[in-house]
Amino acid sequence: MTRPRRPAMTPLAPSLSQVQSPRLPAAEALMPYLSRIDANRWYSNRGELVQRLEERLNALLTAGGSTGLPSTVLVTASNGTAAIEAAILACAGRATAERPLAIIPSYTFVATALAVMRCGYQPYFADVDPETAMLDPAAVAAHPVLGKAGLILPVAAYGRAPAMRAWEEVHARTGIPVVVDAAPAFEAFVRDPGLVSATVPATLSFHATKSFSTAEGGAVLWADETRLFQVVQITCFGVTDQRLALFEGFNGKLSEYHAAMGLACLDEWTRREAAYGRIAAAYREGEGTRSEIGTLLTAPEISAAYVLLQSPTAAASQLAEQRLAERGIGARRWYGMGLHRQPAFAEAPRDALPVTEDLTLRQLGLPAAIDLSGEDITFVLDTLRLTGRDDTHAEDARPERQPRYG
Ligand SMILES: *Cc1c(COP(=O)(O)O)cnc(C)c1O
Repeated sequence: MTRPRRPAMTPLAPSLSQVQSPRLPAAEALMPYLSRIDANRWYSNRGELVQRLEERLNALLTAGGSTGLPSTVLVTASNGTAAIEAAILACAGRATAERPLAIIPSYTFVATALAVMRCGYQPYFADVDPETAMLDPAAVAAHPVLGKAGLILPVAAYGRAPAMRAWEEVHARTGIPVVVDAAPAFEAFVRDPGLVSATVPATLSFHATKSFSTAEGGAVLWADETRLFQVVQITCFGVTDQRLALFEGFNGKLSEYHAAMGLACLDEWTRREAAYGRIAAAYREGEGTRSEIGTLLTAPEISAAYVLLQSPTAAASQLAEQRLAERGIGARRWYGMGLHRQPAFAEAPRDALPVTEDLTLRQLGLPAAIDLSGEDITFVLDTLRLTGRDDTHAEDARPERQPRYG
């Protein structure tokens, strides 16, 4: 069926044309920190700014000591993937011949599987729960391959709060180390510091596409200061202050420049949180015609770095994707069609993955930039509403208003 052609439009601003268009603190906000780096002549290797960033993040996460957590529950890493690898090495060590498998979800970003592979594990893909899009602790605890598993690595999909208490129980019951890839879940841990565990480390990413960012960076969260210190050593080549190589490590340090970005981002955090909150609210309030377009998932249920449209059917989701593309609006299936469909992991052993396959076909990421306007969000929602109508009437339903241009 052909539809009338619409007049060519000027390209949309990046906040609409890209599914995530990061806006980190500007140069002026970084200047005081960069001047400190000049004065210190200390550019990496856990300098003043990395230490200040860790102090401030620890204060935020432990609510200044009022939570009963140790004062240090977080150390930084060069990126979120390095944080996963360091946590695995500190918690589980490399894979063994007796226990070569790491049980992980397929519904995640590729870094999850790459991190376990770099620690010698073979990924074993298990299916996720349809409500949470995350591994189900009870299902994993009864999994037939547990005897071959040296690691369990659940993912906090889209920054949802992971079930840390349940994973602690799985670890206690099976003896198998559990590391949680909580890369996008910074807000969930800030909101509920009680999630931080003494036995199950969780890792964060501070990549530019995440809500709190150092441009590239990451962290390990672990309410065990001895193990955290081991994570620090692992990310510093496994070498002590006396330059003694103790165990296998790698270069996973955050630089002072990235810490400067993190400090500037923390300075703005309250304002950024409020802006993200307004965007989530605008999407939710604009949703109105829920039955027509599906269900919107927004912060605080998931990280503010994402807005997801969960369509009732795969066909409706595909139509939504097509309509957004026609208008040049950015959208993405963030976790692709699942890792088991990626050539790099096609050989990995796995369960049947019906829930994963269903979610990949029905969950679509919508624009979530921090500077989206209310009008931008109306434009996205109006475009989606067209997918709920008969194709031939799509032109009639086109809103009068033109979008904000670049
Ligand atoms: C962002 C992300 C990562 C990778 O983090 P980097 O900082 O880019 O290395 C890993 N896992 C998940 C689920 C992510 O969302």
